[in-house]
Order: sequence, then C-alpha cells, then structure tokens
Amino acid sequence: MKRETNLNNAALMARRHAAVPRGVGYSHEVFIARGENAEVWDVEGKRYVDFAGGIAVLNTGHRHPAIIAAVKAQLDLYTHTCFQVLAYEPYVELAERINAKAPGDFAKKTLFLTTGSEAVENAIKIARAYTKRSAVIAFTSAYHGRTLLTLGLTGKITPYKNGFGPFPEEIFRAKFPDALHGVSIDDSIASIELIFKNDVEASRVAAIIVEPVQGEGGFNVAPAEFLQRLRALCDQHGILLIADEIQTGAGRTGTWFAVEQSGVAPDMITMAKSMAGGFPISAVVGRAEVMDAPAPGGLGGTYAGSPMSCAAALAVLDIFEKENLLARSRQLGERLIASLKTMAAKNKCIADVRGLGAMVAIELCKGGDLHQPDADMTKRLCAEATKRGLILLSCGTYGNVIRILVPLTASDAIVDEGLAIIDAALTAVQAV
Ligand code: PMP
Repeated sequence: MKRETNLNNAALMARRHAAVPRGVGYSHEVFIARGENAEVWDVEGKRYVDFAGGIAVLNTGHRHPAIIAAVKAQLDLYTHTCFQVLAYEPYVELAERINAKAPGDFAKKTLFLTTGSEAVENAIKIARAYTKRSAVIAFTSAYHGRTLLTLGLTGKITPYKNGFGPFPEEIFRAKFPDALHGVSIDDSIASIELIFKNDVEASRVAAIIVEPVQGEGGFNVAPAEFLQRLRALCDQHGILLIADEIQTGAGRTGTWFAVEQSGVAPDMITMAKSMAGGFPISAVVGRAEVMDAPAPGGLGGTYAGSPMSCAAALAVLDIFEKENLLARSRQLGERLIASLKTMAAKNKCIADVRGLGAMVAIELCKGGDLHQPDADMTKRLCAEATKRGLILLSCGTYGNVIRILVPLTASDAIVDEGLAIIDAALTAVQAV
C-alpha cells in the first residue's frame, strides 16, 4: 500500500482522535516522518532537536548505524522462534554480558522480557518465589509501570491509576527521600520501620523496590547513603532489594547502572528502554540463586527476548565501549547542569536544577517558591519549545519538572541548540 505523502500534523491528529482511544495520551501534536541521532523531522518537514529520546529509550540516538546494521543482519537469519521453543545464541550472549556488567561479587543470571512493566512484574514474582513471602514495599512518587501489579507499585493516581483499581494486595508505600521538600533519609527509613510496626511484619516482606533516580516522579536522586541503608535494612530482615533501572539504566547517569555510584549491589535489577536503542526488550538481572527460584516454565513469554532486540542490545553494548558513552554521559550532564544553572540564576521560576550524569531536570515553581509547583508554566514551556523546534518532556508528581533525556550521542552543538531554545522559551512563557 502506498502511503500518503502530503500528510500534516493537524489532519493526522484528527484521524488519531477518531481511531485511537483517548487514554493513550500525547505530549506533542507532532507526527514524526524521520529520526536521525538527536534530530527528528515531522510529516510537514519541520526539524526538531529531540531532548525526549522516546522517554529515555534513545541513549544511542535515533537509528544508530551499528544498531540498524545488527538488526538488518538478524532479519536475514530468523526473526522469531520463541526462546523456549528454539533457543538462539544472541539471547545467551546478551545474558552473559549483562551478568558481567551488573554490580555484586556473586554469580548472576539474566531473564529477558519485552516491556519495562513486565520486567518489574517478573522481579516481584521471582522475589516471592525465592523468599516465600508476599509483601512488597515501594516508594512515594515511584513509577514502575502500567500493568495491574506494577500500577499497584506506582505512586501517582492521575493519570495512571484513576478508575483501574482494585490493585493487588500486600503493597506498602514508604517515603522517598527528598531533601528539597523536607523528607530526610532518616524520615524515609523511619517510614519503612513504621510499615513494619503498622502494616506488615518485616518477616513477610519479599522485596523493597526503588528507582536510584525516580524517573516519572521528577528525577529525584536517591542519595548513596539512602541506598546503602536500604541494603543494610534488607540484609537485616532477609528482604530482597530490587533496583528499577528501567529509566536510569544503559548509561544514562554516567555509569551503566545508576546504583553502581552508591556501591550497593541489589539482589535484582530491572532494565529496558535504552538497553536496545528502541527495540522492545527488558531484563531482570540478579543473584543466580534468586533468579533460579521459579521452577522451569514459571518464567518467559512468547516475544520475550526477541532475536532482533537481542541483536540491537548487543550492538548498544558495543557502541558504549567504542564511543566511550559513559564518559560522554558524565560530561554531557555537566554541560546541561552548568547551562541550566545559568538559566536558573536569571529565571526565578526555576526552583531547582538536579540530576545524575546526563539524567537532568529543572523544577518550575511560582516565584521560585518550592511550595507552589507551576504545572501550567511547565506545560506552556513544553508547547513553546515544540513551536521553536525542540521536543521536551515534563514529569513529576505535580507535573512541574522538565526532564532532559537527549541522546548521549548528540553533538555539543545540538545540545547547545536545544538549551538555547529552552532559554528563549522560558523568556517567552514568562512574558505572557
Ligand atoms: N519502571 C520505570 C522506572 C520506568 O521509567 C518505566 C517507564 N517509564 C517503567 C518501569 C515501565 O516500563 P514500560 O513502559 O516499558 O512498561
């Protein structure tokens, strides 16, 4: 079938509204025609710098030539067998390489799935099978997915949870530390101790799941000391520690896994998104004895660890080594933070600039007052940036955080171009 060539965004939006349920939200009224590294072109030929990266999926950029070549080569061999039916080597090699990368001086094994939510679901299943306990502790402002179990773990009602309950039982919520808004590490640990007193005994808790930097929650960085104290608490009570690195992983924060920077070795880590540069695959890597708890047949999925995605993920690992992208992530982070701090000095609405490596965000508040989150200005800033040729994304419990997830492969010139648009858009939205 020949595709229409004279497409425009407004007409496509109208077709989308008629054909696709409104529950699939949208942040931009833009339909992409082509993407190349950190740039995209829409169906009307307009060019944009991409600071969203498909929500943390494109650390290696749009269509990295090495990924495209690896997937094309795989397409010529076989595209699907279902790993449980006919196994293939790229799945095993990818598991070996991720096992070698994950922190912890112990034997590891890796399971592949398709989506981030599915990785989290499986990590919880494995934790329950290993510990023979049922309860799970997650944190305020956490995001772990949209399936029913992971929605139970996710800590944001609107827009994710409205009308979808009841959620699975035995999920308890502790406070994520947030020094900026008055939640200390002590407060956070005390909130877990309180769960043990009020809600469930520690000996029935299978796992604590934590994002080393909260993604959807607002790029809140878990201090190293907090992760170390979580590790100690888990060890004290025989609870498994799961790091959800679906957004932080694959080098976004300057190390392959963000948790490495705390010196903590979790019992399991979930990953997805940038691990295969846009091809759907997710993973759970963990202690071999923990990963082996479910009996044969207890884990898997028809598309889990698809051959094309394994080929793409192996290419991503090679690209990181060849292009030294971990160092680039740290350097890019410094560039972003320095520029955003300059903007904060002249724009009172920026109440905070924060991040880890190249996972960087600004928090927008009315008059710079942390108690008055400015979701409206955040929305207007994203819309203004789109008009000026920059794809920006917001996040945060109060919808007042702008997050930057530009490909690590972007040149300094492109990054500076995007930052200049943020600067100009900030002035424009405040002049209104
Ligand atoms: N965990 C985290 C930390 C995430 O950021 C996300 C996606 N934003 C998920 C889980 C869910 O991943 P998916 O959308 O692929 O199911």
